[in-house]
Amino acid sequence: MQYINRLVLATLASLILSGCFPSNDLGRKEYLLQGNTMGTTYNIKVVGENLDSGKLQQGIDEKLKQLNQEMSTYIADSELSKFNRSTSLEPVKVSTGLARVVKEAMRLGELSNGALDVTVGPLVNLWGFGPEYRPETVPSDELLSTTKASIGLDKLTFENGLLAKKIPGLYVDLSTIAKGYGVDLIAEFIETHGINNYLVEIGGEMRLKGFKHTGELWHVAIEKPLSTERAIHQIIVPKDNAVATSGDYRIYFEADGQRFSHIIDPKTGKPINHKLVSVTVIHPSSMTADGLSTAMMVMGEEKALAFAEKNDLAVYIIVKTEHGFVEQSTVKFMQYLK
Ligand code: ADP
Ligand code: MG
Repeated sequence: MQYINRLVLATLASLILSGCFPSNDLGRKEYLLQGNTMGTTYNIKVVGENLDSGKLQQGIDEKLKQLNQEMSTYIADSELSKFNRSTSLEPVKVSTGLARVVKEAMRLGELSNGALDVTVGPLVNLWGFGPEYRPETVPSDELLSTTKASIGLDKLTFENGLLAKKIPGLYVDLSTIAKGYGVDLIAEFIETHGINNYLVEIGGEMRLKGFKHTGELWHVAIEKPLSTERAIHQIIVPKDNAVATSGDYRIYFEADGQRFSHIIDPKTGKPINHKLVSVTVIHPSSMTADGLSTAMMVMGEEKALAFAEKNDLAVYIIVKTEHGFVEQSTVKFMQYLK
């Protein structure tokens, strides 16, 4: 059986590679800005008249560079890497960006009853998905339980802009919401330039506003969870919102015929292992959508749907069954289905 290896959100027009779309009757143009960040790519479409897109992109790249310098665990001298390396329990003042992401991570951690836990880093590394090394083997139970002792959001405090560890070995990994935060940051930056029609995408996390240059609403395609073809599974019209998808099959390794996901259940200390193929969330904030999609991926289908209904979230899930892929959405999501 061929495993699914990819499910990305893509705009229907994403295959068009030119930098600028022809103007319509209204004189508006669609400008396409592309680049690399956070180990992935970004694709941004802005609609406007006579925009200096080169200058705009320069500003975007500066914002993204700053973001990486604040919270990338792949950059040894980033603000977060320095915090992680330090064994001091003294509270430290953190940048506005890092503060914003840490605060939301802690809020979502609590809301999801620990399913989203940004201190899970040592376990991520243990299973070989972090910046350190890739063992491609299953860790022993002993190593697992000693590592588990060093994780937990209760070992991290953030008060009055000061971040502190309660144990020297605490490690914070924000990679699960950093891309979403990047999308929010860029969307806000674009809006400060008076642009209110745009699409911002970083590594599959997306936020949209307004209309395309043609005057139509932005459409987003959720691809079929198949590795053999790139076909559309569902078209959604998210309006002025962000869309995030979490899937357990994009990054994984196999050992003894079992597949191990890069998403860890903090309760067991092990990679998740259930029939939930993907979780898509529509929410005004990309960071929140990003974190919630991963949290619900940890929960599994039943708990995820109950959580979504309880918190009045727009959620769409794909579950793998004996009869193929089955999708389910919450009532709140249905308004976005095309
Ligand atoms: P997805 O797009 O599948 O949600 P992300 O890249 O957003 O994946 O998040 C997965 C990353 O988050 C992992 O690579 C790991 O670094 C980290 N992670 C894994 N499990 C958890 C968890 N339970 N809580 C928070 N972060 C996690
Ligand atoms: Mg995520």
